[in-house]
Amino acid sequence: MKVGYGPAGLFEYNASKELIMRLKHNTDMVQSIAEFARSKGVKAGNFTAIGALKRAELGYYDQRNHEYRKIRIDSPYELASCVGNVSLKDGEPFVHAHAVLSDEKGNTRAGHLLEGIVFAAEVHLSQLEGPKLERKYDEVTGLSLWDIE
Ligand code: ZN
Repeated sequence: MKVGYGPAGLFEYNASKELIMRLKHNTDMVQSIAEFARSKGVKAGNFTAIGALKRAELGYYDQRNHEYRKIRIDSPYELASCVGNVSLKDGEPFVHAHAVLSDEKGNTRAGHLLEGIVFAAEVHLSQLEGPKLERKYDEVTGLSLWDIE
C-alpha cells in the first residue's frame, strides 16, 4: 500500500473566545462540554482538560471491524490529560475527546473518551470562527470525519 502525505482537506479559522469552566461533580464530561458548547454557540473549537474522574469508558477503534471496543474503568483515576475538539454532527455541537488517565501508581490508560464521570475537572475551550465544520460518515474508515474536502 502506498503511503501519501498532506491534509485531506483544510479550513482556516480565527481564534475567538477563550472559555474556562469547571465541570460539576458526578456529571459526564463529554456531554457537559457538548452542552456548554451548545449554550455558548460554539460550533468549532478545541479544548484541554485536567482533573480527576470517578470512572470512565474509553474506546479503542477496531480499524478492521470499524467499531469501538469499550474499555471500562470503574475506579478513580487522575485525568492526567484530555484533549479534544468541538465540531458539528447532525447540526449539533459534538465533542471528540481523547484522555490519558493515571492510577495511584502513575500507570496510565488512554484512548478515545466515550464517557468520563467527573470528580473534578477544569476545562479550557477555545472557540474558533470560520467555515462550518461538520462531520460526515466516511466509508473508508467507518467514522464520522470532518467534511472538509
Ligand atoms: Zn477518537
